[in-house]
Amino acid sequence: MALTTTHEWHEMPLDAPFTISRGTREVSENAVVRVEDGDGREGIGGATPTEYYGETRVSMEDVLPDLLAAVESVGDPHNAQRVERRLREVAGGPREHPAARAAVSIAVHDLAAKRLGVPLYRQFGLDPGEAPPSCHTVGLASTEEMRERAVDLATAGFDRLKLKLGTSRDVEVVSTVRAAVPDATLHVDANGAWGVAEAVEMTSVLADHDVAFVEQPVPADDPELLAQVADASPIPVAADESCLVAADVPDVADVVDIVVVKIAKAGGIRPATRAIHTARAHGLDVMLGCMTESNASIAAGCHLAPLCEWVDLDGSLLLADDPVDGVPMPGGRIELARQDRPGTGASVR
Ligand SMILES: [Mg+2]
Repeated sequence: MALTTTHEWHEMPLDAPFTISRGTREVSENAVVRVEDGDGREGIGGATPTEYYGETRVSMEDVLPDLLAAVESVGDPHNAQRVERRLREVAGGPREHPAARAAVSIAVHDLAAKRLGVPLYRQFGLDPGEAPPSCHTVGLASTEEMRERAVDLATAGFDRLKLKLGTSRDVEVVSTVRAAVPDATLHVDANGAWGVAEAVEMTSVLADHDVAFVEQPVPADDPELLAQVADASPIPVAADESCLVAADVPDVADVVDIVVVKIAKAGGIRPATRAIHTARAHGLDVMLGCMTESNASIAAGCHLAPLCEWVDLDGSLLLADDPVDGVPMPGGRIELARQDRPGTGASVR
């Protein structure tokens, strides 16, 4: 069939500057991709470039026209296998241009599900009741600001909160926030900010404050560092930056307890699904994560949530005003069953 494709960019201001140990973001640049069939149906996908993973708006602008031409040449949104192979070839390999490929992959899957008239999770045969609630992230800020934010979120119904850490005040932040939200499930993410000795010390502090797990305590460039921390940690350790695609899972499987899978990191819906199943086959739990991105991509993540133990799909919630509607997520509860629209449910307002 004749598919037509377009893409556009949206600069989406964040609700508040979002800081992690690597830096601060105030605007999220999102590519929104559209793939139309000849019957008036349109699939929508999106992604934001992450420089840490080698992508920028320029690199995405360079490759998106070629990726979209590949989709048009396949001409069949139901042949996701061939689409994925062509996207990988055009990008230059399974680790190249993951966010750009993800945006296109999501749009193609959205279109295919719309053509079948079913929400994406039903196309995958998943149980909407199995989706765990999403956490909401509390970015790095002053201790008092992080405490206030955590209290506000808990009051708004979020019972899973993720604290970004990676400053000299980490112990103070954890004890202050824990005291302020005693009933919340807390997990933390250092984004690789700690050295091994500091990380080992922090894991026992985290255990004392009933923190469920720690994400990427040490840098990803040396796998041995993560192993040293995980060996000594009294709480589960999750690999995020240390595990990008399914092929990375075996390398961390004997080291960590949880793997963080992101559609934008894996390079699409099928690669992300493969990473989820690979992790589970190795006995690991999975957290489905995201970037600071719009519902053009977050909505797709919601449909994979039933496959995961943990979900961190707050990207759209961090935006001041996401122009894309997605799956309802009051208090972090992913209401897939209420999302009875075909496809991912994403629609540009
Ligand atoms: Mg992370």
